[in-house]
Amino acid sequence: MTSEVYFGSIQQGRDAEFASLGAKLGKLLEHLDFSTIEKNDKVAIKMHLGFSDGYQTVPVFFVRRIVKAVKETGGWPFVTDNPTSIYNAVDRGYTQETCGCPLIPVAGVKDGYTKPVKVDFNKVKELDMGGVLHDADVLIDLTHAKGHANCGYGGAIKNIALGGYSGPSRWNKIHGIENVYPWWDAKKASPEHAQKLVESCPYSALRYDKEKHQLNIARFQCHYGNCTECIKADKDVGALNLQPEQFEAFQEFMAIAAQKVLDTFDDNKRFFINVALQITAHCDCVGLPQPVIVPEIGILASRDIVAVEQATLDLIKEKGLIESEIPPYFKHIKLDSGVDFSHPFARLWGPYKNPYLVTKHAEKLGMGQREYTLVEVLSPKKTMKMKPPKHVFERAPSFY
Ligand code: SF4
Repeated sequence: MTSEVYFGSIQQGRDAEFASLGAKLGKLLEHLDFSTIEKNDKVAIKMHLGFSDGYQTVPVFFVRRIVKAVKETGGWPFVTDNPTSIYNAVDRGYTQETCGCPLIPVAGVKDGYTKPVKVDFNKVKELDMGGVLHDADVLIDLTHAKGHANCGYGGAIKNIALGGYSGPSRWNKIHGIENVYPWWDAKKASPEHAQKLVESCPYSALRYDKEKHQLNIARFQCHYGNCTECIKADKDVGALNLQPEQFEAFQEFMAIAAQKVLDTFDDNKRFFINVALQITAHCDCVGLPQPVIVPEIGILASRDIVAVEQATLDLIKEKGLIESEIPPYFKHIKLDSGVDFSHPFARLWGPYKNPYLVTKHAEKLGMGQREYTLVEVLSPKKTMKMKPPKHVFERAPSFY
């Protein structure tokens, strides 16, 4: 048995409301089946509301519809995210009035209301899950699908894996996991060589701490595999040891962190919706408007987090990158390194940030399955045969 992933495409068979993405979202919610939400359940709609000027997130139009559908079950929805994104969400159009429900920080206003969860991954024993998310009865993981500098792709798993925890767990423990691997041999390199390595990096990913004689790497800026400039500069010294598993550790830990969040909800009270529109190279957290680098796709929904991620990644792969929109700061994007790029996002961010790794680890943890059946709702083929109602233009105000 494969998992079902319901899909509403941006493409429409008619220029009519019944063929549009709004109508398709309604169908997707019918398939998702909110009947397992019980009266008075507290329903956390976990989103990333963006940051600063980064407005390319899930349109509030869809949030309102989902909130309305939850209210019809007798549940009490609220939108949740990190405190800063909640606090300035109004700048990007999200308020209680526009969303239709309160916006509550995932770990309280000081990011300190947390619940410890046990993990055991590369010396990390505990993470602090957002207490507000932990308190909820139902999870709706409502995600904007986009690229990500650390792992190629940010989707449903990342939305709860990183977004489900307080700042210190998110940044120091989960993001910090890549740095637990030794990759720099200080004994082999002179300070001059370290400086040469820093200068070799076209992405400014390397920094040298002269006092400690320590080379540091910002892996989100590193495109290893696409770019190998520092490796070339290090050829006769061999002080660097960049390995795929150092990059993969982040994806494995994301899967673990997401699983811990899922474990706090009943199986039948977890819903996943990926909005694959306005797909940008960077995550929403960079707080910048960015070029859209993949053609518009639509919305995917499932009760299986692994299946919805796999299907979203496959559709992105099918569409491919819009070459003309790739920002010029991806300097090595056209370099033929002989590496098999498994996905457009791996091509963009480097092959060791293969976005499928997270679904592989999530499946291994039993969070769902990568095999899925895509069920398209109101497909263009179907809606082009449907008879549109007479279109009504608003010739005068209709709200009296
Ligand atoms: S592989 Fe390229 S991007 Fe990464 S640190 Fe080395 S030079 Fe910089």
